[in-house]
Amino acid sequence: MKRKSSYFLATLCAVLATGLIAWSAVANTAVAKVPVANGSGGAVASVDVEASRVGIEVLHQGGNAVDAAVATAAALGVTDPFSAGIGGGGFMVIYLHDQDRIITLDGREEAPAAVTPALFLDPDDPAGGNLPFFPNRMSSGLAVGVPGTPLNWQTALSRYGTLSLADALHGAIDLAEFGFTVDDTFAQQVARNRERFAAFTSTSELYLPQGEPSAVGSTFKNPDLANTYRGLADYGVNSFYRGDIAEAIVATVQSPPVVAEPTFKVMPGAMTLGDLDRYEVRVRPPVVSDYRGYKFYGMGLPSSGGITVAQTLGILESSDLGSLERGEAMHRVIEAERLAFCDRNTYLGDPEYVDAPVAGLLNPTYTASFSLPARATDPCTTPGNPLPHQTDPSPSLTQVPTVAAGNSQEGLSTTHLVTADQFGNVVSYTLTIESTGGSGIVVPGYGFILNNELTDFDTALPHPNAPEPGKRPRSSMAPTIALAPDGHVLAFGSPGGSTIITTVVGIATNLIDFGLPLPQAISAPRFSQRNGSSTTLEHSLDGTDEANALRELGHQFRLTHEIGAATGLEKFPNGTIQAVAEPSRRGGGAAMVVHQAVE
Ligand code: GLU
Repeated sequence: MKRKSSYFLATLCAVLATGLIAWSAVANTAVAKVPVANGSGGAVASVDVEASRVGIEVLHQGGNAVDAAVATAAALGVTDPFSAGIGGGGFMVIYLHDQDRIITLDGREEAPAAVTPALFLDPDDPAGGNLPFFPNRMSSGLAVGVPGTPLNWQTALSRYGTLSLADALHGAIDLAEFGFTVDDTFAQQVARNRERFAAFTSTSELYLPQGEPSAVGSTFKNPDLANTYRGLADYGVNSFYRGDIAEAIVATVQSPPVVAEPTFKVMPGAMTLGDLDRYEVRVRPPVVSDYRGYKFYGMGLPSSGGITVAQTLGILESSDLGSLERGEAMHRVIEAERLAFCDRNTYLGDPEYVDAPVAGLLNPTYTASFSLPARATDPCTTPGNPLPHQTDPSPSLTQVPTVAAGNSQEGLSTTHLVTADQFGNVVSYTLTIESTGGSGIVVPGYGFILNNELTDFDTALPHPNAPEPGKRPRSSMAPTIALAPDGHVLAFGSPGGSTIITTVVGIATNLIDFGLPLPQAISAPRFSQRNGSSTTLEHSLDGTDEANALRELGHQFRLTHEIGAATGLEKFPNGTIQAVAEPSRRGGGAAMVVHQAVE
């Protein structure tokens, strides 16, 4: 098994990395931003150094991995507010060591009761077309789903944490109150959203003071968000779903705080206090699959993430990728991704609305029935037929539907974090507000941006992911925990809309098939095929031997700067932990451990 030899590589990397890292895990001291940390006692990896610091302080004080995940996420709501925050939703996968059990929490945003399949129809279009995606759907009250993140935090803490919500929010409140240093990523994200942010009084006041993004190196404070978090701390999560924050959200969605002369038409939404009052976090079973002896635990519907990762890996199981030429191995991954996305787009949606044939899609006899083509293929137009493979006793689908179009407009935002604690618990948590910058609408006086998650619904009807009242839009988020045959626990995940799925597949194959240690498995160049006519490739892969080999097999590429700023961790059987963030994607992330390894 390749992973055994990679353990020694990982250990070697750990020794080398430790020599480079001068980091002191003491609360309130300056911390260095490094992408790899080795040690024990617990770990955090996120895209942001301040957020990772907040999480590691919770672990230092004896908190568990769930406490640290919530604290880190709350801090990201301050420092990474264009990807995450209480105005959005997310999915948390938790490994509870003492029970040897995996739990998943679905804190996905939900459509208000007034939503219909005609959600995005343009009232001014006599031909009955939809509103343009950018900026009218993206930046509208229509696109705002009932946020799930605050209740997801409270649910995680109440069921599996040790801290109160107030204690878990403490570090984030300080960050919002006293500020943090603006980095390139933050400034660029504001600059790229200038037009949308400038359309709203509340957003431009906060993020475009004097009409410009805050300068790199300046201190950014968000006192309104500090107060909002304090409100959650003092009055509980009910203040968000039933109290003053709920009232402010409803007012903002129904009557967005538009400037006098916005450059585009801003549509109001129809969210009500009843929609917020009804919102529930769902505790769901994980999607469990096996890949070359590794047990994968992923997020189930309404995220397609865990299912489509598992199906892709299942299709690849019969190919010994590690023994193939790199170009041929990539070709097989690309074609497996295409087939799995064809089924994803056809069958998957909110399980409370759609009888998705999940058991069939994941059945090993079904995934083994796919044969991978010798050359690049066109987008798949006939989905597979998982129905005969359903072991679920009550499938109600009787016919294979036609292939549904994929939603090519999914955003590339979101953030992923991982935590581990001294007790052996591990958390893999992806959260989002959908687009980078969400809806672009800050709730006036409350300092957080509302999501535009309802743009994840598909508007070409009929579709299992059509907008419906109370429905959760299908996600691609794929927070993953994997148990290796020799006792390692791995946790990883990524941002990046539907590329999340292919990034997670890429990290898994890098680890398991190509024997890369986790830091390299995460930092390696990425490619992504989602049943389109071209495969997205990071620039660094262009011109390589493998890319040339793929061109010879008929593949076409679309180049992109980067795909997915992932994070992960690996817990070795001897109790040591390696936490890993990106060295450069999205400006590089921050990995930390409680007790730094001394080599
Ligand atoms: N809305 C996306 C999803 O749930 C996440 C946003 C993104 O990563 O761009 O899959």
